[in-house]
Amino acid sequence: MFVEIENLKYKYPTSNELTIKDFSLQMEKGEIVAILGESGSGKSTLLKLIAGKEKTKVGKIVIDGDVVVDKKTCKSPKKRGIGIVFQEHDLAANKTVEGNIKRTLPLLMAKNAKEDRVEEMLDLVDLYIFRDRFPKELSGGQQQRVTLAKALAPEPSLILFDDPFRNLDPSTQKNLREELRAILKKAGITSIFVSNNKADAKVLADRVLFMEDGEIKQTCKPEEVYNVNL
Ligand code: ADP
Ligand code: MG
Repeated sequence: MFVEIENLKYKYPTSNELTIKDFSLQMEKGEIVAILGESGSGKSTLLKLIAGKEKTKVGKIVIDGDVVVDKKTCKSPKKRGIGIVFQEHDLAANKTVEGNIKRTLPLLMAKNAKEDRVEEMLDLVDLYIFRDRFPKELSGGQQQRVTLAKALAPEPSLILFDDPFRNLDPSTQKNLREELRAILKKAGITSIFVSNNKADAKVLADRVLFMEDGEIKQTCKPEEVYNVNL
């Protein structure tokens, strides 16, 4: 399995109960899993634990054979090779589309290789003609596509999406979720997508998990999301 998460548990120091109760997930390379849950169910916390932004040694996380969490290990976010896309885009206002993508590439990467990679990303997210624009000159959907290009550029082994369409208008949401599936499948990248929107999961995912109070209560196929009442 490409991603193996076993019995992950987490309690915030200030909390009395576990925020993540006992989470396990196995994913194949290139698979897209959506996790649906109400606000407060623990989705963001789960992604932070996977990315290493919250620390735990309870449970196990292995990505492409690399142990990032177990009882002796808790690798730093940088050493995990995971990309994250949040609902708020995190673009530098004073850099162009091209500049924003370029700055996520490794410092030591050769100049030519960097330029090639940026071109490839601009092509993938279909923003080639906007390469010289600044973030404020783009629509919300275009900004999210730059954020996606930024996350994909360093070739992460796994990419995590924390409700990335939440702040977009419904028609942009609809277009972007269809595009996103195509982009991820084309790049062959393994992804976990969390949301509280069933339509996101239906269109994007290969498999859907329902989370409630820090636990997975049900799993279904994307076409069955509207049959689940949670
Ligand atoms: P979701 O992303 O599904 O809305 P979160 O993972 O953000 O859920 O939150 C899950 C629970 O953990 C909530 O009850 C929230 O209040 C709590 N929580 C989130 N962040 C912290 C924190 N830094 N410290 C303490 N509790 C937190
Ligand atoms: Mg959240």
